[in-house]
Amino acid sequence: MNLVMLGPPGSGKGTQTKFICDEHTIPHISTGDILRDAIKKETALGLEAKSYIENGELVPDAVIVGVIKERLKQADAGGGFVLDGFPRNLMQAEALDSFSHVDSVVEIEVPDDVIVERLTGRRVCPECGSTYHIKSDPPKNENSCDQCGSKLSQRKDDNEETIRRRLAVYHEQTEPLKQYYKEKGLLHEVDGTKGIEEIQNAIADIIEED
Ligand code: AMP
Repeated sequence: MNLVMLGPPGSGKGTQTKFICDEHTIPHISTGDILRDAIKKETALGLEAKSYIENGELVPDAVIVGVIKERLKQADAGGGFVLDGFPRNLMQAEALDSFSHVDSVVEIEVPDDVIVERLTGRRVCPECGSTYHIKSDPPKNENSCDQCGSKLSQRKDDNEETIRRRLAVYHEQTEPLKQYYKEKGLLHEVDGTKGIEEIQNAIADIIEED
């Protein structure tokens, strides 16, 4: 099963992708995570991507398509994968079709105002990747990770101005992919304002039916 997850930043794509990948033992391929890791390690990719990410803009297509193409060549992707954060525009979707194939697409729908509230309150653990929300899912001890005890931080692009920019980019460039995949009969829409478990069940049903 090669699955693509679509949805605005903060729609819960990462959380839901993790559930799917744990259940089916297939790799979770998140372009955002790959880029943040490259920035942390100060690789050439990281240096190139940094300013785009911090401004809420897309990293150039040629760069990100190259990253995904290489990642999908790795052995663990041969038995299926879930793409979280790729493709993000039509050019990327067409590129993906040229070197791989997509079996199903799940789009998680969440209104912009809900996204802003979610992302401004999001805190992440830089060590183990756990995420929290200061109001709806706070850590037990203020500012430290329940899983590993590390100090929590806020992603640089989780400020309101950059979130609004990321949402604008999503509406302009990524939303047209809904039509692209609808025409191919691959699109499934899920209400992302529901509880995490309800969304998880809805996605599990989609995967089972496909
Ligand atoms: P995410 O964690 O998916 O919200 O991604 C964080 C940032 O990484 C985005 O705002 C973009 O700057 C960059 N990024 C992630 N995926 C892509 C992609 N497929 N194409 C271009 N830029 C991307």
